[in-house]
Amino acid sequence: MSFKSLNLINPIIRAVTEAGYSKPTEIQYAAIPHILMGKDIIGFSPEGSGKTAAFAMPILQLLKKNTPQHNEIRTLILTPTRELVVQIEENIKVYSKYLPLSQLSLFDESSSQGSQFADLRKRVDVLIATPGRLLQLTNQRHIDLSKLEILVLDDADKLLEMGFAEDVKKIMKMVSPKRQTLFFSTTMPVDIRKFAEPLLNNPVEIIS
Ligand code: AMP
Repeated sequence: MSFKSLNLINPIIRAVTEAGYSKPTEIQYAAIPHILMGKDIIGFSPEGSGKTAAFAMPILQLLKKNTPQHNEIRTLILTPTRELVVQIEENIKVYSKYLPLSQLSLFDESSSQGSQFADLRKRVDVLIATPGRLLQLTNQRHIDLSKLEILVLDDADKLLEMGFAEDVKKIMKMVSPKRQTLFFSTTMPVDIRKFAEPLLNNPVEIIS
């Protein structure tokens, strides 16, 4: 079992190999082929399982396939806390080292508003954000999610625990209905499944 056997492209394999990864983790092995085929995913996996790379590597590969003419956001990763935003950002920086893709992070205390607005005028391949900050900027019309290709709800159980359910529902109304949705949670209580169901289109379920 290797990254090559998952059909990942060389720029990504080279970057993760340099980061010291020698083979895919269980969740990566299970999720990456489905994500590359464009399927929706509902994944349950414990912390430290390599979940971030399981969604980030195939997303980068899908984004690399075409370069759109517009300057709107192509991927949105929603996660509950500033720490998680920063962690995902650092991971994606590593995996995209050899790819011409741009990323931007938004959380409540992130850099000055002026510079965020300037960054949002350029093409954003991957936006990583907390729901509250994202909604502020969509309400002020600085963000357009209508061209979104991929949506990730990361740590969904924590999103609900922290009271973001209504914010997430509002955001879901703004994103393109044609997007691919990847939903990850560390636990799988009934309320998480109920929350996920209307957001996903015939998802593949992965438990690792
Ligand atoms: P995560 O579950 O995404 O928070 O990842 C946990 C840790 O595992 C992070 O430090 C990653 O850098 C690392 N990691 C992810 N995938 C692999 C892999 N295939 N081989 C070795 N380490 C990995």
